[in-house]
Amino acid sequence: MASEKEAALLAVPSDSPTIFDKIINKEIPADIVFEDDKVLAFRDINPQAPVHILLIPKVRDGLTGLSKAEEKNCDVLGRLLYTAKLVAKQEGLLENGFRLVINDGPNGCQSVYHLHLHLLGGRQMNWPPG
Ligand code: 5GP
Repeated sequence: MASEKEAALLAVPSDSPTIFDKIINKEIPADIVFEDDKVLAFRDINPQAPVHILLIPKVRDGLTGLSKAEEKNCDVLGRLLYTAKLVAKQEGLLENGFRLVINDGPNGCQSVYHLHLHLLGGRQMNWPPG
């Protein structure tokens, strides 16, 4: 399997449907940990920490990445952040902490062009990130 960096450098930024649409539509399986009308959260297939969950807007609405955000997206962006806190609580991460990551574009190592937050926890993180 290509490394995450290789996958990101091969990924072509586009508006085409992504693998996340198939997860939203339940066409492929995913370990879903939270779902409401706006947000879906599921475990990353290639976890980088004991807890590694992706949070996505169920309707992409132009948000291939955060760099495409417009004012009309503010509600869903806020909802994603708040949901990350709810899921962190659900996963028992509030006491010791956690990390949220948004990769954007090739330099940010983004490989899937449907905006997503990475919620990582369950171990000590390092800084700076690679
Ligand atoms: P990015 O590199 O774009 O920030 O993150 C994309 C993430 O999606 C990666 O961490 C990758 O492991 C995850 N991913 C890619 N395909 C699938 C999939 O089919 N199912 C799940 N659960 N995660 C996926």
